[in-house]
Amino acid sequence: MIPTAFATLPLDPSLLENLTSLGYSEMTPIQARSLPPILSGKDVIAQAKTGSGKTAAFGIGLLSRLVVSHFGVQGLVLCPTRELADQVGKELRRLARFTDNIKILTLCGGVPFGPQLGSLEHGAHIVVGTPGRLLDHLRRGSLNLKSLRMLVLDEADRMLDMGFSEDLSAIVASAPSNRQTLLFSATYPESIAAMSATVQHQPVTVKVEAIH
Ligand code: ADP
Ligand code: MG
Repeated sequence: MIPTAFATLPLDPSLLENLTSLGYSEMTPIQARSLPPILSGKDVIAQAKTGSGKTAAFGIGLLSRLVVSHFGVQGLVLCPTRELADQVGKELRRLARFTDNIKILTLCGGVPFGPQLGSLEHGAHIVVGTPGRLLDHLRRGSLNLKSLRMLVLDEADRMLDMGFSEDLSAIVASAPSNRQTLLFSATYPESIAAMSATVQHQPVTVKVEAIH
């Protein structure tokens, strides 16, 4: 049996308390299986169906790895669409509610650059966004990833389906090679395995199959 209490994980007590206040009394199966390797710094491929709590799995990992006193982008989450990036940004902010000090920025296409440039100048610990816009910021020099510790590809299967493969490769190429890389997906097609081989190092694979 895999433990399902968040308290069995090496988490900051105030983060644990916040999980309780969010009503997260126990880990979902994908959280219980992916969080131990994530928290030990391993690259992880995590597959589980929509609605299984994948955001909190990588979110808790991100929040636990941050050095809050260092004001550089340490976590980057790539999402296929603006709606999904907004949802992830929202969930990360809920998870980070135990402290006022963690800055999370959502950067997506379809909106003007100006305000995003201003926000980036103020700095952020975690950036969530869509690949095209993030790549634009990297190319303009308004975003740099030299402090990046953790890269998350969320809904990786959908990003590949939507043709983001080249943008993803270009973003990954500008991230430090000693980063931790997490790949989250609802399905596990061959293209995900191929993507993993190019962006991850000795990944642990965690799959939670549907029981029906
Ligand atoms: P996925 O990314 O797998 O589709 P989400 O991360 O969007 O799923 O989570 C689905 C819902 O489950 C969200 O409303 C989230 O707040 C909730 N949730 C996540 N983890 C837990 C937990 N441990 N206990 C209760 N609810 C949770
Ligand atoms: Mg999700």
